Amino acid sequence: MKYNFTTVSDLQTVEKDTTIDVIGILKDVGEVNQITSKTTSKPYDKRELTLVDNTGFSVRLTIWGNTATTFDAAPESVIAFKGVKVSDFGGRSLSLLSSGSMSMDPDIDEAHKLKGWYDAEGRQDNFQSHANMGAATTGGRKEEYKTIQAVRDEGLGMDDTKTDYFTLKATVIYVKQDSIAYPACQTEGCNKKVLENNPGEWRCEKCDKSWDRPEYRYILSVNVSDHTGQLWISCFDDTGRMILGMNANELIELKENDEKAYQDKVTQANCNTWVFRCRAKMDSFQETTRYVNSITPHKCRTNLLFRVRYQVSSASGLNFSVECAKLAEQIKQYSLQGEGNSMFVD
Ligand SMILES: [Zn+2]
Repeated sequence: MKYNFTTVSDLQTVEKDTTIDVIGILKDVGEVNQITSKTTSKPYDKRELTLVDNTGFSVRLTIWGNTATTFDAAPESVIAFKGVKVSDFGGRSLSLLSSGSMSMDPDIDEAHKLKGWYDAEGRQDNFQSHANMGAATTGGRKEEYKTIQAVRDEGLGMDDTKTDYFTLKATVIYVKQDSIAYPACQTEGCNKKVLENNPGEWRCEKCDKSWDRPEYRYILSVNVSDHTGQLWISCFDDTGRMILGMNANELIELKENDEKAYQDKVTQANCNTWVFRCRAKMDSFQETTRYVNSITPHKCRTNLLFRVRYQVSSASGLNFSVECAKLAEQIKQYSLQGEGNSMFVD
């Protein structure tokens, strides 16, 4: 079998309806679903797979019919596909053609390389989907980062009827410490705040259950910076773990037992650069101002204030090959714009 592989990241540069070959690690296997063909009214079985590779991207690939129903590869297998069609659905997605084929753990160089990469580092990586890129830009163009200045200039999140999404490459400069984590329920997926009613008895109202200890979860307020400005962003537990390099239970334990080590850990979070996928939304809150005048002392005035909240939905470390490709692309664009412009000579 001869393959001519396109990497998952490069899919964004491939025209829709092109037929390609792809190889990746099986990250996720969906259930079999039945759909009815619009043209023939016949039912079809389909199954969606998620593939990742060492370019930092993930993509969904649909397989059909018998291939879908009999599919039994274990997650984390390497699979090579010959003859898949590229669609622009969800940014970029793939569909195995009936003339195409699929090979599990093939004995080829690319497969061994991927397996080695996955075992060494890929398993811990976060992957970017082409869908995020569709949301961040329009029409499946390459994902562009917003600068902090652009986030402000374009007024992202200022329209209170909608949520804006953007991707930001920025460096942590300060982690606010007064509310770094909250004690949460231990029930999987509950995440509710628990209260310590008695020593060693943490109660979740929602689950109607008490725990001997809480599961701490991060709620971080982080100041990040790029070359255009600074921004406060809010991060939940997953991003908090990445930024602080340990889970919130461990960090709170450190805080209680070794203040110096805790401070060091929080300081170490600074100066690291991440790619943050964010949503910007208008938030309202009440501010009460007390003021005194001669007629009615201690009067209060309550104002409803609005502020844009920047919430991180996911973050990933820098993927240097992706970053380099972006920079090379920018240089290319600038030099095209500057053709005949002496600024760009040399
Ligand atoms: Zn609970």
